[in-house]
Amino acid sequence: MLVNVTWLNEDADEIKLEVSGKFEVCPHCQGRGISDPDAFSGNVDQMISDDPDFKEQYYAGHYDVACPLCNGQRVIAVVDVDALNNEEKKLYKEHLTNMAELKNMRSENLAEIMNGA
Ligand SMILES: [Zn+2]
Repeated sequence: MLVNVTWLNEDADEIKLEVSGKFEVCPHCQGRGISDPDAFSGNVDQMISDDPDFKEQYYAGHYDVACPLCNGQRVIAVVDVDALNNEEKKLYKEHLTNMAELKNMRSENLAEIMNGA
């Protein structure tokens, strides 16, 4: 299968490509396809012990929502790096390097702002 990607080349220009992809088990829901609503944010255990009705409904799946990352598909499409040709591999590497640099730049800027520079 093919996936559409937008990568940054060495000039930090966006390039749109269609490259080999594969499905991987969704890391957000571990392939369940459902997740707790964000509003619960880790309070589920407390809510379960506080409210027997909630506990019953929770385990019956009343509050399950489709996983936001895979949209309930249980898997996500990722780039199949092993299947890329040499040119694509080179672009992918540039992209990863650029993304890492962008991230560094952002945190440096943030540090400067925090320091009042
Ligand atoms: Zn998921």
